[in-house]
Amino acid sequence: ALTLGIVGLPNVGKSTLFNALTKNQVLAANYPFATIEPNVGVVELPDARLKVLAEIFGSERILPAAVSFVDIAGIVRGASEGEGLGNQFLANIREADAIVQVVRGFEDGDVVHVDGKVEPASDMETINTELILADLQTIEKALPRFEKEVKQKRLDSSVLEAANEAKAALDEGTLLSATKIDLEPIKELGLLTAKPMIFVFNIDEAALSSEEKLAELAALVAPAKAIFLDAQTESELIDLDPEEAAELLASLGQDESGLSQLARIGFDTLGLQTYLTAGPKESRAWTIRKGWKAPAAAGVIHTDFERGFIKAEVISFDDLVETGSTAEARAKGKARMEGKDYVMQDGDVVEFRFNV
Ligand code: GDP
Repeated sequence: ALTLGIVGLPNVGKSTLFNALTKNQVLAANYPFATIEPNVGVVELPDARLKVLAEIFGSERILPAAVSFVDIAGIVRGASEGEGLGNQFLANIREADAIVQVVRGFEDGDVVHVDGKVEPASDMETINTELILADLQTIEKALPRFEKEVKQKRLDSSVLEAANEAKAALDEGTLLSATKIDLEPIKELGLLTAKPMIFVFNIDEAALSSEEKLAELAALVAPAKAIFLDAQTESELIDLDPEEAAELLASLGQDESGLSQLARIGFDTLGLQTYLTAGPKESRAWTIRKGWKAPAAAGVIHTDFERGFIKAEVISFDDLVETGSTAEARAKGKARMEGKDYVMQDGDVVEFRFNV
């Protein structure tokens, strides 16, 4: 499964957020190093279309797509040198497909900040610097081998070129995800700053409703995506039933919970997309990569579907809602028979035809 790793300085609200993510009670203690074991949680990707499909098809259940998150031990200055929980941190983060960096924006005299002050820009710099230093170490360790093997013509020179280009960018303090360097030749190095990053600002309610404050924080990370939430509110929201949760959100001037935003943006950052299936048993969203063709998409349901793929009958969600049923959609010419070269589109409601 594709996973987002949650990182951030100690006491920024990672555990609080993660509790909300998993509805589990992990240790959210008010001191550094409380978060020792990495934990994995799965969050459903909210998709209002599924409820509509379930009504049309009389489905017994709804199965949304999901995104998994790993709560990674808190990073501190010196992590790249193996100080504190450094090495464990780096090993865990290497496994993640993208990184969610939680940044503290809330003020609370009772919650200690590792650096003594709440300053999002400098916190982000601390984290980014550690990741950059870790990548520099990885590259510097690999360079002598690359040089030797390129000289012996056992390795393509593009590997050495990419490594040197990446090193130069890192030396300047740039995250590799913010460059256009082709890192494909050095993929095996698993460079941390090459992973896409999403920023989550954990801020209080007052800041959440200040357009000015939000714009200021968003500017710090642009063009990366920023999400704003109040981790404590998020953990309260999960205990409420849907109507109460919607009321609380509305009272805060929000139309979507931070966790839903996180799942949505995380999904997008990972380059994922869904297609839908519906029937009396279930209405369900299936996870694929953007750009996948119909047979690969069918393979997510079952490998037999891909192997014996014949056709996909596709009705767009909007057409299905407008016509009200599969039969009506067919009658109105809204059901398309697509072949093996069809690139799946968001909102496709699909039925695969296959040989067994
Ligand atoms: P972590 O070390 O990053 O995992 O941080 P925690 O989630 O353990 O949070 C550290 C402390 O800050 C805990 O006492 C939380 O209750 C508190 N905290 C977390 N989020 C917020 C927030 O949005 N506002 C306030 N005031 N306190 C928070």
